[in-house]
Amino acid sequence: MYQDVIFRFCPVCGGDLGHLTLKEKEPQRLVCSRCDFVFYLDPKVVACSIVEMDGRIVLLKRDIEPQRGKWVLPGGYVDRGEEVTAAAIRETEEECGLLTHINKLLGVYSYPGQMAVVVVYIAECLSGNLVAADESQEAGLYCKKDVPWEQLAFRSTADALRDYIKQGK
Ligand SMILES: [Zn+2]
Repeated sequence: MYQDVIFRFCPVCGGDLGHLTLKEKEPQRLVCSRCDFVFYLDPKVVACSIVEMDGRIVLLKRDIEPQRGKWVLPGGYVDRGEEVTAAAIRETEEECGLLTHINKLLGVYSYPGQMAVVVVYIAECLSGNLVAADESQEAGLYCKKDVPWEQLAFRSTADALRDYIKQGK
């Protein structure tokens, strides 16, 4: 996770990067002192799915930091050039072995100071067997009333589940 990494050198020419105010109302930018390249620290897009299976939803217990041992929705980073929906489908298959079809967008979750922009879809399972694969210790199916609220990994996980449950009422 490079949220806290400090970039020192220009990726184009290797010159020193410095902080400069380019526009009054925007954050300072990392600008190369040699070639003027502006190194924008862009957000990272994460695609997640709420996968419905027989009235329950899939949650995965993380086997990696941060938040190892906590529950998340299947999902992960979108690659550059990849459709966000395709990333959601790919990550779900990689992480828990299920082939899914996306039915609709649930919401987009972002927070001040956070690098991730989390896009959450509602999906249904087409085929496959639920397993804990990449990056997961355990895969679980939860009814809406049994969501382990105290053991969810991220604020976006909880906010998305809350919106999903609200929507279903
Ligand atoms: Zn440069």
